Formats: sequence, C-alpha cells, structure tokens
Amino acid sequence: MTSETNPSVRTRFFDTKIEFLKGVGPQKAALLNQELNIFTFGDLIQHYPFRHEDRSVFHKISALNEQMPAAQIKGRLREWTIVGEGGKKRLVGQFVDGTGLIELVWFQSIAWYEKYLRPNADYIVYGKPLLFGGRWSITHPEIEPLTQENASGGYWQPIYPLTEKLRRKFVDSKAISKMMRSLLEISRAHIRETLPETLVQKYRLVSKADALWHFHLPQSQQWLHQAQRRLKFEELFYNQFRLIKNKLLHKTEFPGLVFNKTLLVKEFYEQHLPFTLTNAQIRVLHEIHEDLKTGRQMNRLLQGDVGSGKTIVAFISMLFALDNDAQACLMAPTEILTDQHCQGLKKFADLLGVNIGKLTGSTKKKEREQIHKELLNGTLHIIVGTHALIEDVVRFKNLGLCIIDEQHRFGVAQRAKLWAKNEHINPHMLVMTATPIPRTLAMTLYGDLDISAINELPAGRKPIKTVHRYDAHRTSVFGFLKEEIAKGRQIYMVYPLIEESEKMDLKDLMDGYESVSRSFPGVPLSILHGKMKSQDKDFEMARFVRGETKIMVATTVIEVGVNVPNASVMVIENAERFGLSQLHQLRGRVGRGAEQSYCILMTDYKISKETKLRIDTMCRTNDGFEIAEVDLQLRGPGDISGTQQSGLMDLLVANLAQDGEILKAARASAEDILTSDPDLLQPVHQPIRVHLENLRKEETNWSRIS
Ligand code: ADP
Ligand code: MG
Repeated sequence: MTSETNPSVRTRFFDTKIEFLKGVGPQKAALLNQELNIFTFGDLIQHYPFRHEDRSVFHKISALNEQMPAAQIKGRLREWTIVGEGGKKRLVGQFVDGTGLIELVWFQSIAWYEKYLRPNADYIVYGKPLLFGGRWSITHPEIEPLTQENASGGYWQPIYPLTEKLRRKFVDSKAISKMMRSLLEISRAHIRETLPETLVQKYRLVSKADALWHFHLPQSQQWLHQAQRRLKFEELFYNQFRLIKNKLLHKTEFPGLVFNKTLLVKEFYEQHLPFTLTNAQIRVLHEIHEDLKTGRQMNRLLQGDVGSGKTIVAFISMLFALDNDAQACLMAPTEILTDQHCQGLKKFADLLGVNIGKLTGSTKKKEREQIHKELLNGTLHIIVGTHALIEDVVRFKNLGLCIIDEQHRFGVAQRAKLWAKNEHINPHMLVMTATPIPRTLAMTLYGDLDISAINELPAGRKPIKTVHRYDAHRTSVFGFLKEEIAKGRQIYMVYPLIEESEKMDLKDLMDGYESVSRSFPGVPLSILHGKMKSQDKDFEMARFVRGETKIMVATTVIEVGVNVPNASVMVIENAERFGLSQLHQLRGRVGRGAEQSYCILMTDYKISKETKLRIDTMCRTNDGFEIAEVDLQLRGPGDISGTQQSGLMDLLVANLAQDGEILKAARASAEDILTSDPDLLQPVHQPIRVHLENLRKEETNWSRIS
C-alpha cells in the first residue's frame, strides 16, 4: 500500500505535534493550542482562511478611486509627523510613488511605528484609500519594507481567523502563511486524495494536494479559484453524502404502510372539490401518493408560500390514509390555527361522512376523554390539534399519516413523538412550511427529507399591492385606512417586538394603540401581544375573526398562519426593524379574500441602504422564493431561520448564498454513488470510505476537546 491509500500513514504524519514544525517551537505552539485549537499538523493545514486579499497588483496613487475596497501601493515614505492631542493624536506619514502623494494615518501603537518606520525608505502599503478634501489617505494601513521577494507582488494573501492575543504576539495572517509554507513543503506526499478519481475528472477538479497548496499559498487568481472550487465541492459532497445516506437508511430500514386504495380520494376529487387545483397542487399530490404506495415510510417536506393552498393538499393526503383503514392527524402550533384548520377541514369532512375532532390544551376534560376513546377505537378518523396531540395518553387505533403545519415552530423531538404513535409501523410524515427557503438551503437543511414545493398561487388572486410610506405621510395613510374600513374591510397594524428591548417596544405598541384609538374614534379595536394571557389572546383574536373589531393592533404574534379573509390592509410600523422573511410572512396575512389587498411599510426618513433594498424587494415582488433568495444574499445562510441548529454553520469553505451550482453537482454525485454502490465496494470509491472514517475520528476527537 502506498501512503496515498493507507490512512494510517496519513494519520501519523498529520498527527505530528505542531511544535515540531520548522519555525514554530514550544512557545508559539502553546499559543496556537490555546487560541486556535491547533495542536497538530493536521489541525494547521485545515485552518482555512476566510478570505483572500488581492496582492497581485500594485496600484498607482494617481489611479486610485474611492470605490476600491483596498489598494496595494509600492513607494517611499518621505517623512512622518505626530499631530493632534489626546484621542486625536496620530502619526501621519507622507507616502509617494512618483504619481502622487497619499497620507498614512495611525491612531494606535504610535510609539511602535515611531520606532519601526524609517524616513525615506521604500515600503509596500495596503488598505482602503479614502479621499478627504482632495487628499488621499489610508488609516491603519498594513505596511512592510520593500524587499526583493515582495517587490513583484503577484500573490493573494489569505486572511486567517485569529485572535487579539495572537495579533499582539505578532502572529498575523502573514505569520500563519509562513508556517503554512513550511508545512505544505513537507506534506505533499502525505496528502491523500479524498474524492474518487471519477468525480475529479468529471468536474475537472484539481487534486486535494494542489487545492490545499493554492488555498493557503495562491500564486494567481486562477489557482485560487480552482482551489476553492475543489474544496467547496468536497465539503458539499460530504455534507450531502451523509444526509442522503441517512435518508436512504430511513427508506430501507423503516417500512411504511401501503396506501393504494383511493375510494374517498376519488369521491372527493370528482364530486366535492371546491375549486380547480393548481398544477402545482396536483403535482405535489402525485409526489405524495407515489410515496404512500411504495411500502416505505414517507418523510416529506411540503414548501408552499402563504396562500398557495397547502391545506387542501393536506386534506387529500389524509384521505389516502382513511381509504386504507388508517387515521390521520394534523398538528399546528397555536390554538387559533388549530381552530381554523378544524373549521376548514370539517366542511370537507362532512361531505364525505368522515369524522373529525379537535384536541387542544383547552379541550374540556369530558370531551378530551371522549376523543381519546374514539381515537383508540377508530371511530374518529381525523384529529386536528396542538401539542396536546403528542401527550402519551393520546393513542390511536391505527395512525397512518401525521401532518405538521408550520414545521419551523416545532422541534425534531416532537416529530419523533408522533412517529411513535403507531407501535407497529411508523406513520407517514408530511411537514409543511410557509417560510420559503432557497433551494440550496433546503437541500442542506432538509437534505434528509424529500421536498415538494407548491410554487404557484391559485388563479385569480389579486397580487397584494405593497408600498413604502414615511412617518410624515401618516395622515394620508390613516385617511386611506378609514376608506377601507368604510368599505367593510379590516386592518392589521403591526409593531416590532424584539426581545432585548421588550419594555420599550411594549411602550411603542401601547403608544401606537393610543394614537390609533384617537385617530379612529368609534372604530372598535383589538390588541394582541405576547405578554397577554393565552385566553385573552384567543378572545381578542376571535373578536377580530368575527369582524367585531376593525383594526388589530399587534406585535408579530399574528405572524403565523392566521386566516381572516376580510382583512385587506397590513400596516407594518418601523418596517426597518423586520427581516425580509418576517415582512413577507406578515404580508401573507392579507390578500386571502376576493378584495384587493395592501401592505404599507412605514419607516423613518433615514434608513440604511440595506433597509432600502429590503423594502424595495417587498414592493417589487410577492414571490416568497425570490424574497428568500434576496434574504440569503443579504444576511448569509447563518441568519436564516432554522439554520442555527442544523450544523449548517460547519461549512468552512462553501457559501450557500453563492455556491448553488456546486451544491447541485455535489448532491447529484452523492446520490449517484449511493444508489449505484451503497456499500462503497468499488475500488474507485475507496477514498470516500477512508475519508468518512477519518471524518468520524476527527469528530470524536473534537467532541473530546470541546
Ligand atoms: P396556505 O398554503 O397558506 O396554508 P391555504 O391552504 O390556507 O393556504 O389556502 C389559502 C386560500 O386559498 C384558502 O382560502 C383556500 O381555500 C384557497 N385555495 C386553495 N387552493 C385553491 C385553488 N386551487 N383555487 C382557488 N382557491 C384555492
Ligand atoms: Mg396554512
């Protein structure tokens, strides 16, 4: 066996303690241990930079412009002086390159620079150029003496994650680069290829050894790009490989009830369908039916924008279960939502003679016992409820399908509890979410679920008109609201409520409520916020649903699922304080009836560029997936709801906002290999086996350390 294929050789070399690397030694090693958790050669080589600075070209001072994020200039430091006093004290150097002059300014470590800098010596400086009163300057530039080695530029400087302490000890990115060079020079023979040759060739990837070299020591932008592409592919490939493997395991290990009879489904479809289904609804129902026939347990995510019609899809899916002597349940996160689902589904159920019940925390004891009994003896076919459904006392005769609405409000543990409600064979699972997430995120977040998407709204919907108004326009906005109320419509007015400043926000809400009641004399109002008792909330909500109150002044508690078709205007106060997906969710509360609906985003005059982009996006489109894409670009994957707990943040090189194409290719490759050679028996797939084994070892090491 060569070192390329024998993992033990690789492991031994990369397990070498970092202090034995040329130029490191015990002191620096201790620092690296402490500050960066770098103990071995292997740890160092996997300490990846988070970006690279372009040091390939030198800029002329005469050709600088303010759009440049940074510039590298080669020239002479003529002289420097200390100016200012106290906090304004700074060292200002005059730097020239034959085409112009630029000032270098340091506010910190002045004493050190006084000692370090030599007048009339040549340097390379790097930093963000700014123009003040016709004069260029860079504040806190990086500066290093010009030498033979650096005189030609031509490289990209990796920027590594570091700590303040390391910087104080002069371990900066350049210093890390030096260590990296020593390490890479002796590592080459020990770096194993981690991807099968077939993939390397198919996607024209550079080798692992080349990728590591050029990620740490890029000699050109092309090489850097190739190195990144290769490492991203590898990272996403293994991410997907594990998710898909999990999913396949589930499919082979967990048998599912076979639902192949379709009597009620046919009856409902042919005689009682209240509207024509959209093509997307039909497609999704086919996907679900396919799963239900296979004899394997379904685990499917149904994504669909607010108002796309997930409920009817859920109902028809339940009928598949009923047709095959099984029961179905639907779990929703709130009582309000549960009520609505129950009312909606009961209309359909009654047409078919199907029994449906409701179970929530406020179901009376006697009624609750009756429901428990009927679920157990099978006379109750469908149960809709809140968390109350997962209590142990709730048992079924034969639960065949569980549907969870607004999945992101529940945890995985709750899903598992529902599974266990059928002792013989796990029920099929359909989780629904109205928070659209971009495909790349869905693939990684829900990579172990099958995904269906309703990407089309029912025909004839009037798109919600969204506008941006400043606080100064309040009078005209209120005037418009009065007209809508006169037409019989209802209105939501939403105030932000963010936990850290809850008290202040609550005051904002109460002030808002006062001002609304003054501006709309005689108009009945409701108020709703998270600090209210659950019964009070339900009471207020119920009044609004019945149309007894005309304006609902609320915090974001109304965000999820509420359906009041007569509400046609959503006013969002301090819209700058909401994220895009939240704005979109809130807007989804209107536009549910036949009338034209409106969303009015209120802000101050002064808003940031990013806020402007969010608001413009809202005004431009109603498409949740498009909005989710913008959200992803703006905030990065880390801040999108649900990603925090998912391990997604472990991605070191790939960026889901940008690497969608690589992700798709990596996923397809993982799928291919797992279907054609699930046990990785072919020799060409051996690198995968070895690498998975190493990943597993690394993870156990890490869990020991942290
Ligand atoms: P969501 O996906 O947000 O849960 P719902 O299932 O509540 O959406 O549907 C929103 C509204 O659209 C409901 O009033 C529903 O009856 C109606 N609807 C659903 N599908 C169609 C369709 N194909 N044609 C017309 N109306 C539909
Ligand atoms: Mg819904």
